Amino acid sequence: MAPQPKAIIDLSQPLVNGKVYACEGHPAFNACCISHVADGAFATVHSLSLATHTGTHVDAPYHFFADGARIDKLDLGLLTAAPAVVADLRAKGPRAKITWDDLAPYAPRMHRGVALVLCTGWSARWGLKDYTAHPYLDPAVADKLLATGVRVVACDMMSPDLVTDEEGDCGLFHRAWLGKGAIIVENLNGVDKLLAVDKERLRVSFTPLNIVDSDGSPVRAVGWEEG
Ligand SMILES: [Zn+2]
Repeated sequence: MAPQPKAIIDLSQPLVNGKVYACEGHPAFNACCISHVADGAFATVHSLSLATHTGTHVDAPYHFFADGARIDKLDLGLLTAAPAVVADLRAKGPRAKITWDDLAPYAPRMHRGVALVLCTGWSARWGLKDYTAHPYLDPAVADKLLATGVRVVACDMMSPDLVTDEEGDCGLFHRAWLGKGAIIVENLNGVDKLLAVDKERLRVSFTPLNIVDSDGSPVRAVGWEEG
C-alpha cells in the first residue's frame, strides 16, 4: 500500500503585516511586494523586514551569551522530527509561575532528544494587549529539566520568562537554559491540538533557517503523529 500523507498540525503564528507582536526595539514584520506577475513582472517577489525573533522562532544560546552556540550550529536532530512531551498548563493564570511541581508528572517521558512543549493556551492572546501577561517558568526548573536530558523547551507564549514593565530581570530562565547550551522555541500556536496525538508517536519540528552566526531564526513549527 502506498504510504499515506501525514496530517500535519501547524504550530506557527501567522505573519501578517502590522499584526505581529514585536519586542521593544525589534523591527515590525513587513512583507512588501516588489514585483508581481499581475503587473507584467517576470515573477512575484516580496522583500521582508523582520527580526531573528519575529513570530514563531528559535533562540540559540548566542542570544544571551557572546560565546554561545549560534543558530547555524544547533543540533538539528533536537529540532527536527523530535519526540515531544506536551505539558498541559492551561490552568495557569496570567503571570502565574510554572514550577517543577507542574512539570514533574511529565518527567518520566523526558529524555535526551525529547522536546518539552509548554501548552498554556496563551497563543490565543496573540495580537491582544495582554499577550505579554503569560505564565512563566520558574528559573529553578532549568537544572531539573537539564538533568532529564531535555535540551529544547518550546512554549506557546512570547517568552518562557516573566515579562513585566516593572523593574526586574526578564531573562532569568533564558540565562539558566541558554547558558547550558540548550534551546528555546517561542510564540508557538495551537499547541493544544498536540494533546490529542498519541504520546508515543508525537513528533515536532522547529527547524531554523541556516542563518550563519545568528542568535535566532523564525521557523514554521509543525507537529504530527508518526506512522
Ligand atoms: Zn526569542
